[in-house]
Amino acid sequence: MNNENPHYDLIAIGAGSGGLSVAERAAAYGRRCAVIEKGRLGGTCVNLGCVPKKVMWFAANLGHAIEDAAGYGFDIERRGFDWARLKAARDAYVAGINGWYRNYLADSDIDLIEGTARFVDARTLDVNGRRVTADHICIAVGGRPQVPEVPGAELGITSDGFFELEQQPRRVAIVGAGYIAVELAGVLDALGSDVTLVLRGEHLLRRFDPMLREVLAEEMLEDGISLLAGTQVTAVSRRDDDTLCLSLDNGQHLDGLDCLIWATGRVPLTDGLNLEAAGIETDAEGYIPTDEFENTRVPGIYAVGDVNGKAALTPVAIAAARRLADRLFGGQPERRLDYSQIPTVVFSHPPIGTVGLTETEARAKHGDAVKVYTSRFTPMYHALTPRKRQTAMKLVTVGAREKVVGVHIIGLGADEMLQGFAVALRMGATKRDLDDTIALHPTSAEELVTMR
Ligand SMILES: Cc1cc2nc3c(=O)[nH]c(=O)nc-3n(C[C@H](O)[C@H](O)[C@H](O)COP(=O)(O)OP(=O)(O)OC[C@H]3O[C@@H](n4cnc5c(N)ncnc54)[C@H](O)[C@@H]3O)c2cc1C
Repeated sequence: MNNENPHYDLIAIGAGSGGLSVAERAAAYGRRCAVIEKGRLGGTCVNLGCVPKKVMWFAANLGHAIEDAAGYGFDIERRGFDWARLKAARDAYVAGINGWYRNYLADSDIDLIEGTARFVDARTLDVNGRRVTADHICIAVGGRPQVPEVPGAELGITSDGFFELEQQPRRVAIVGAGYIAVELAGVLDALGSDVTLVLRGEHLLRRFDPMLREVLAEEMLEDGISLLAGTQVTAVSRRDDDTLCLSLDNGQHLDGLDCLIWATGRVPLTDGLNLEAAGIETDAEGYIPTDEFENTRVPGIYAVGDVNGKAALTPVAIAAARRLADRLFGGQPERRLDYSQIPTVVFSHPPIGTVGLTETEARAKHGDAVKVYTSRFTPMYHALTPRKRQTAMKLVTVGAREKVVGVHIIGLGADEMLQGFAVALRMGATKRDLDDTIALHPTSAEELVTMR
């Protein structure tokens, strides 16, 4: 072995959800592996995504619970909220995960190469001046937040900046309509900030079932979040009193903000990789196209996770990466990820759990063969709370056997409720199968097996 320019069976570029998983699985098959990472171990999910976000979501839930407690006889008053203390605890938790991964890589005999990878050719990478080679290279570089090109855009922050905030912003505008926008809006609102959500189109969560986005918009308004729909930001400026002002294309101004968060989408981190040297092309948005086996057009080079533009979720990156290693090194030549029926949760307030076809998609595909069941109610928890929040559910079925092709839930507990229904959907469950399942009582989930 040449220690100056080591050669590996597999190198993963990026130690996030995808890169760590492909190396871990390949190493388990006895292969010599390395991961190259320019930042912190764990990637977006651990450092700037799912994990710190979920910590903030738990904190927000506690904020709501304090409000709700009076209804259950508690004499509690919210006297304050120490953002800096929560951030310190959250950072320590994330640092613990970073450290865990470092040990795990060492224990798994996976080399960690710290630095920024660039292709030299299809088998060779340059990492801060050092050359490494591999038979198989998996690109798992993820993405970064995108900021629109409007004057003064740099006065705002992105979700990355949100996790760096040392102090709670008091008056915040969030621009965007996707899941990151609604999640941050819900968190900040529940923790006591004054939040305005500015969205270009008419709807939140454009690709979700209409019921989910309508109920979410209603609930957000109930919580006191302002929604400015059908509006674009044309400029951002800083006033003499240090506050920010957003100019909108309808002539309005949103003044007196102490924080602006752009949640206007993400772009893949492919521009610095020197992909041309390996013969790899990206699509117009910078994503690396892959076939159903995650092959790029260059033999021996693969792309998994956010960078291939298929479905930007941590479990998707992990699953695609593990299957790739199974295929390359585990003697499973047909192993690949089925990207249909991916369940997903939005950690909004209340949360959303959704899997399968939306009603709109099902009707476009199956026309009159679609039958839909819905339910909307106040969950029992809120029977006694001063704050009333709704739960809504929808089952989308197709054909005479009423095969369930979509399950959509918004409401307390939806995040934990969905996983088992995603299994049922994958197994081809019919409405009858749900009806024949004994309900759990008293729960909200029982509605899903008792719908008429
Ligand atoms: C705010 C937010 C909340 C999210 N919440 C959820 C959630 O609740 N559930 C969920 O499933 N998903 C969530 N996601 C999405 C999830 O984080 C991503 O889908 C997942 O991290 C993708 O994994 P990946 O391996 O493709 O990329 P990443 O995790 O982004 O890892 C890529 C790694 O590559 C490194 N890298 C990039 N270029 C180079 C280079 N040239 N050389 C060396 N290293 C490089 C980066 O530093 C990074 O560490 C969230 C994302 C965000 C931003």
